[in-house]
Amino acid sequence: MVEQEVLEQRILGFAGRPARPSYTARYPVNEAMIRHWTDAHGDRNPDYPELAPPAMLALWTMPGLAPEQPDPGALDELVELLLENGYTGVVATNLSQEFDRYLRPGELVTATPVIDAVAGPRTTALGSGFFLDVRTDFTVEEGERVGTATMRMLRYRPREKLPKGKRRRPVKNQDTSFFWEGAAAGELRIQRCRGCGELRSPPRPMCASCRSLEWDWTVASGRGTVYSYIVHHAPQMPGQELPFVVVLVDLEERTRLVANLTGCEPSEVKVGMPVEVYFEQVAEDVLPFFRPARSAVGGR
Ligand SMILES: [Zn+2]
Repeated sequence: MVEQEVLEQRILGFAGRPARPSYTARYPVNEAMIRHWTDAHGDRNPDYPELAPPAMLALWTMPGLAPEQPDPGALDELVELLLENGYTGVVATNLSQEFDRYLRPGELVTATPVIDAVAGPRTTALGSGFFLDVRTDFTVEEGERVGTATMRMLRYRPREKLPKGKRRRPVKNQDTSFFWEGAAAGELRIQRCRGCGELRSPPRPMCASCRSLEWDWTVASGRGTVYSYIVHHAPQMPGQELPFVVVLVDLEERTRLVANLTGCEPSEVKVGMPVEVYFEQVAEDVLPFFRPARSAVGGR
């Protein structure tokens, strides 16, 4: 017990230390990189590339595959200490960014990361662990700050055993409850953008095509073909027999959906195979599953 307390004090003591030495970008902000970014995002804002998109801020100081990588620092020491003591799980829980002004081509950015806060131990659903906030200040010549980013991550000791026999329940929230209510009613509901009519799966708040936040849903036929699949052999999942098949289905309606496939041997699953949805009550939830289509291709 005492040992654990000493360890916890050591971990908490990292707060306030520089995470790594400051690192200056290899190249100044430049038009080519801005173009790559805006092309990839389909962003046609006419202010770019004369200005750089603010969301590119952290990118300028990413070393990538540079032969000279930033020197390690206290953050690496802390991570090593956590790993040695069984805190092997990691999950990023939040990223907040502030942008003070636009960057322009020619400016050279320096990143200065600090271990802003260490909090814990906290008990979470994943296991007991520590929240680390790493704040990176971005500056240009003469030390002018142009923005800052704080990444919060949880480093935790994974729970030794998942609750036995109980299958993990689906996440139901504002964006997904229509889907699960549909399943309970025996319907495969697919989210549809009210701006442009595009279907999207899995559900999310905004349309990637027209950026509308307005949406409703349509009922899919439940027929489709296997676009891709995996056979899950490990690890053991609570309440599920191994191996099981997870398929990515190309629905007739031209969107894709991930679900489990039953009704045939894993070795019989093929890309392009026609499948159909069915619903089954599993503990408290009704879940959609796919099985090989009973009607021939193009039938019904
Ligand atoms: Zn849309």
